[in-house]
Amino acid sequence: MSDPINKIFGIDLGTTYSSIAYVDEYGKPVIIPNAENQRITPSVVFFDGSEIVVGDVAKESAKLYPNEVVSFIKRSMGEANFLYEYDGKPYRPEEISSFILRKVAQDAEQTIGEKVQDVVITCPAYFGINEREATRKAGEIAGFNVRQIINEPTAAAIAYGTVQETENRVVLVYDLGGGTFDITMIDIQESSIDVICTGGDHNLGGKDWDDRIVAFLVQEFQRQTQSEDDILEDPDTWQDLQLSSEKSKKILSQRDKTPISITHGGDRVKVELSRDKFLEITEDLLERTIALAHEMLKEAKTKGYEHFDEIIMVGGSTRMPQIPDRIRQEFGMEPRMFDPDEAVAKGAAIYGWKLSLNDGLIRRIAKKTNREIENSDNIFETTPKQIMEEVAKEMSEETGVTLSAVKRSTMRIRDVASKSFGVVARRPNNQEGVFNLILKNTAVPVETKRTFYTPEANQERVLIRIMENETNEKVVAVEHSIGIGTAVLDLPEGLPEDSPVEITFNLNREGRLQITAIEATENRQVVAKIETSSVIQGKELKEAIERAQHLVVH
Ligand code: AMP
Repeated sequence: MSDPINKIFGIDLGTTYSSIAYVDEYGKPVIIPNAENQRITPSVVFFDGSEIVVGDVAKESAKLYPNEVVSFIKRSMGEANFLYEYDGKPYRPEEISSFILRKVAQDAEQTIGEKVQDVVITCPAYFGINEREATRKAGEIAGFNVRQIINEPTAAAIAYGTVQETENRVVLVYDLGGGTFDITMIDIQESSIDVICTGGDHNLGGKDWDDRIVAFLVQEFQRQTQSEDDILEDPDTWQDLQLSSEKSKKILSQRDKTPISITHGGDRVKVELSRDKFLEITEDLLERTIALAHEMLKEAKTKGYEHFDEIIMVGGSTRMPQIPDRIRQEFGMEPRMFDPDEAVAKGAAIYGWKLSLNDGLIRRIAKKTNREIENSDNIFETTPKQIMEEVAKEMSEETGVTLSAVKRSTMRIRDVASKSFGVVARRPNNQEGVFNLILKNTAVPVETKRTFYTPEANQERVLIRIMENETNEKVVAVEHSIGIGTAVLDLPEGLPEDSPVEITFNLNREGRLQITAIEATENRQVVAKIETSSVIQGKELKEAIERAQHLVVH
């Protein structure tokens, strides 16, 4: 091979488990096991003096050192106020997540003997702008070149679409992981994968099923010991119950009942949890996933998608047998379990492989057509067929990748916006509202413009408050939106009241938002940098990157 293609790794940064994959020389996605020879690594971080321990050992250490162990950090991504303090130093979710990324990457490097540099990282479809940006930053702190952040269900669909070479079909991806639930409709065709609609809840996942068991155990302890103590106030007991609840939940995926013992303050209590009882105490959680699925299907109908052909289940929590049972009952079709723990990382790796092949094709197209390609968005559609054939053939010969795989890498993969985005402005009745420029479930990339007017004469600047919301309406009450940042446009002197300001929102294919504002009189334009406190940046980011170089992660 004279020109081996650059390896781009796919990382599934999960709430409870993470994993890493790459595409081998035969074009097959492969999971790389960690140093403990496990294919998935618990996303748990243990601060052990000057060392950072990630994975199984960290998870087990939670029993002994509950205050030094951080779990479920993904649920706090993009939260401005989350800080974990250890040894007098504050750590943001991005930095803690970067330790998980480094652990899976380091172990992979050991196994395959190659450096992990370029990566595609996945996040729940439900993640908003700040959570996505935080995920990207976690990768940068870990020292990677983050090529793209892609949605977990999209990654799963890519993995699925690659192994199932059947005819075109519309697939529903029911993804119930450790901390998040995503429900996504995807149209898979031979030369394209289009996400049609997505919905879900980023605070609903296997952990909630665990928490219900924990609550049940607390009640049982109180009943049997005739006490009213809140045993969860004891961090050791809390950790212990968390771990035993997750274990019991998994046992109940296989058996009808499981014994659990609770030890607290010298008392030991034995409880038997039956599957029926487990179903009863978690029924509303399952029903919520069904209600969210219907909500999404309703929206898909408005886009002309009335039917779907298949339901695939991904995410570890779909192993609970009540999930397929309920899906079968509700939708009258047999859901297929598809590689629940690995599909996301593999899909991300296939996406990375596609990016890498595309880089090579674009380079060759540029050379052949003697031009620089700045925007490669529609490059494969707009390049003459003849040239496409030639560069694909060249690429295949030079890299050893089969011609059909090279051609397949040009397939279009299109996602949708997972939220609506807008700015705060006054309505005609003078009340503030959020004017959405981009509506949820619009195909990305997308660009929209809208003109607003200054409320006062001689205004010096306009403060643009950028908002995110779940609704599909053009104007939304401010309290139904969350602020994701602000941007400032300085105005020339002496402008009259009602001067036009044109705001453009551009959401790229990975869900990153760019905002441009133009003041029309002097045609003054700013590319508004979104200022937000929810994502690590500036000095803090620099320090985190520096710190990362001195830390040992095991
Ligand atoms: P994921 O984020 O997709 O890795 O999913 C992890 C979640 O799946 C965790 O909440 C696990 O407890 C859960 N899980 C994994 N295996 C099982 C099982 N056999 N039965 C029930 N839940 C499981």
